[in-house]
Amino acid sequence: MSHCRMILSRSWTLVKHFEGAPKLSDFKLKEVELSPLKNGEVLVEAEYFSVDPYMRPYSTRMMNEGDVMMGTQVARVLESKNSAFQAGSFVISNAGWTTHSISNGKELTPLLANWPAHIPRSLALGTLGMPGLTAYFGLREICCAKKGEIVLVNGAAGAVGTIVGQIAKIIGCKVVGSAGSDGKVQYLKEIGFDEVFNYKTVSSLEEALKKASPEGYDCFFDNVGGEFTDVALLQMRKYGRIAVCGAISLYNDTVPRKGPYVHYPLILQELRMEGFTVPRWQNRYNEGLEKLMQWVVEGKLKYREHITKGFDNLPSAFIGMLKGDNTGKAIITAK
Ligand code: NDP
Repeated sequence: MSHCRMILSRSWTLVKHFEGAPKLSDFKLKEVELSPLKNGEVLVEAEYFSVDPYMRPYSTRMMNEGDVMMGTQVARVLESKNSAFQAGSFVISNAGWTTHSISNGKELTPLLANWPAHIPRSLALGTLGMPGLTAYFGLREICCAKKGEIVLVNGAAGAVGTIVGQIAKIIGCKVVGSAGSDGKVQYLKEIGFDEVFNYKTVSSLEEALKKASPEGYDCFFDNVGGEFTDVALLQMRKYGRIAVCGAISLYNDTVPRKGPYVHYPLILQELRMEGFTVPRWQNRYNEGLEKLMQWVVEGKLKYREHITKGFDNLPSAFIGMLKGDNTGKAIITAK
């Protein structure tokens, strides 16, 4: 196919760095006409967009005002002058919140080979993508969860949390989760969590954690940080492991908080607390994705997506995800 017609690309740009919670006025639409492809280049069209919590803190550190919002998308190759990418194939692109983009192929990753027709491609942004890998490697390599142990995960009804809990069940652990609505609590029970509570309505977080597991916790997969972490650390069992995955309760803070210090629980219970980012296992992504795909196909790993329709709704979907609108992975369709 020759790229003779002009392609108009629409993008959401960041007008101003976020102050506190992101607002619709922080984003602005921009349209540009793309130039014809040069040798080695690929033209892609977004099919699904991902909105993820990391965009809140990372945009401040890694973006300039006026840039296209960062992010990943599942995209279709419309035209290719790069032999590594065939027109009509699907890729993961880091082009951000933009409908069409031209790439030299370096930041494009082909979808996992032999993707089954009945598995939605959008899962490449969730259960079968970065969040799934975060759960897979974080739980296994940092929490080192073993059969018979007790695992706690907060932010449990989200993209990462739902997978952490289910993998922990596959390993043979008891799983306790917390989430921010009764609907989410219900969903987590349906997919096999042993104990779940709504952290927004319990009168005492400490009591809720004790009630869910009077014996305490061997592993804590922490997506939330802040006060939740302070309380949970005091309920870890001897030699417990804490995977510090995220701190969503702190991302909108404008003034750094001063919490209790971690030393006493870490020393007295001889805990290991370790932060990580998932690219640490980049050279093992295929291993993780193949295992996650196997579990999805076997029905052992259930998924749910919170789908918002339309590129124009990306900013509101992002804001909504940060507030907890989503059960499972927050996805936006391009059309
Ligand atoms: P989710 O799908 O879980 O969406 C975010 C959820 O966070 C919301 O649905 C909301 O659910 C919850 N939330 C928002 N504010 C608060 C708060 N103040 N206290 C508790 N929960 C809150 O997102 P992901 O699964 O994609 O990400 C989960 C965490 O993992 C994030 O912290 C993220 O930054 C981190 N992460 C880290 C990676 C790494 O490499 N280290 C990679 C990927 C994600 P609710 O209704 O329950 O409040």
